[in-house]
Amino acid sequence: MSAYAIPDERYAIKLDAMENPYSWPEAMVQAWLQRLQGVGVNRYPDPAARELTASLRQQLELPSAMGLILGNGSDELIQLLALTLGGAGRVVLAPEPGFVMYRMTAQFAAMAYVAVPLTTGFELDLDAMLAAIAHHQPALIYLAYPNNPTGNLFAEEEMEAILAAAPGWVVVDEAYHPFAGRSWVKRLGEFPNLLLLRTLSKMGLAGLRLGMLAGPQALVAEVNKVRLPYNINTLTQESALFALEHQAEFDRQTALIREQRQWLATALHQLPGVTPYPSAANFILLRMAPGQADMVAEGLKRAGTLIKNLSPVGGLLANCLRITVGTPEENSTLMTQLRALVQG
Ligand SMILES: *Cc1c(COP(=O)(O)O)cnc(C)c1O
Repeated sequence: MSAYAIPDERYAIKLDAMENPYSWPEAMVQAWLQRLQGVGVNRYPDPAARELTASLRQQLELPSAMGLILGNGSDELIQLLALTLGGAGRVVLAPEPGFVMYRMTAQFAAMAYVAVPLTTGFELDLDAMLAAIAHHQPALIYLAYPNNPTGNLFAEEEMEAILAAAPGWVVVDEAYHPFAGRSWVKRLGEFPNLLLLRTLSKMGLAGLRLGMLAGPQALVAEVNKVRLPYNINTLTQESALFALEHQAEFDRQTALIREQRQWLATALHQLPGVTPYPSAANFILLRMAPGQADMVAEGLKRAGTLIKNLSPVGGLLANCLRITVGTPEENSTLMTQLRALVQG
């Protein structure tokens, strides 16, 4: 194995990791710092993060039959799901291309990982999914909604067919929920094997590390058995509570990002040889003319802008780049740099 690589150089414009580019208004920063003054870090955190869990339940409007467990980012919950369901002969299944942590954590838990290719339009290949489910009997299926790195929302009827056919748990990963306008949250309980994964990262709190998993109480209770007691630290618990009280600011920021996604998609469409795909997330996947992806990714780096080059992954992602939506200034600088690279 090799450790997960994160680029360690600094770039003037960072559009590789789906971070929210906006900071907080000064008054909000001051109120937050004030709030943290009352927090003691000499004591262990509340192991069940009760106050924060209650606040998140309210925000999600979770019915009482549904459980909610928090993770140190949703990455930790993805790892806990593998620990919960792992064991000899256990299988994790997900469409490909998909989020890399599903595969990595399956490997950590010595589970087999089955990747079912999406169609060339990045839709679910339902026949292939159902055949793979029948053959491999997966303990765990992931469906990211919208999907990373493709940015699209899978068809709901096809997801329903997968939920009905799955012999194990199906986790709908809504990491990009603030940008999607669609959710499965209201359908929790309708399928006994449906769980919902969310994170505060993409909304603007990536540094806090807070993810959540909701689903039938009995299933969530199983995941809770393999959770380490103090996984959500005191500063995160207090800061996330504070952030939820200031949801309006995050809503304002995510609305700006959605507007800029449209601006960027329109601008990208006008570049010769560039095909941007529709996105319900805070990033845009684009296909470059053959042979251009590496040149453009390297050229942008030299100009001080970091994006994600997915071309080396190959398969459906050959010649593809993924760009996180930034501020209007960042996006317009990016477009200037891109224009010079594809036309020059
Ligand atoms: C970013 C992302 C996550 C992980 O987010 P955390 O920062 O660990 O909460 C989970 N799923 C998908 C699909 C993602 O893109």
